[in-house]
Amino acid sequence: MMDQENINPSIECSVRQCAYHAPKANYCSLDCIQVGTHESDPTKEQCTDCQSFMRK
Ligand code: SF4
Repeated sequence: MMDQENINPSIECSVRQCAYHAPKANYCSLDCIQVGTHESDPTKEQCTDCQSFMRK
């Protein structure tokens, strides 16, 4: 079950629109996230995505 009071100090994140964003700091509240890409040949950070994102 999601616990947004939890802060995972290993995952900094500034995406406040995500349901898993910790409300009190710029961290993710999940224990683990999935990172992937929407590109066939990623070349920069904008090519990568947090695939655990869920809209609030
Ligand atoms: S799931 Fe991804 S986008 Fe959402 S708070 Fe965690 S790291 Fe950020």
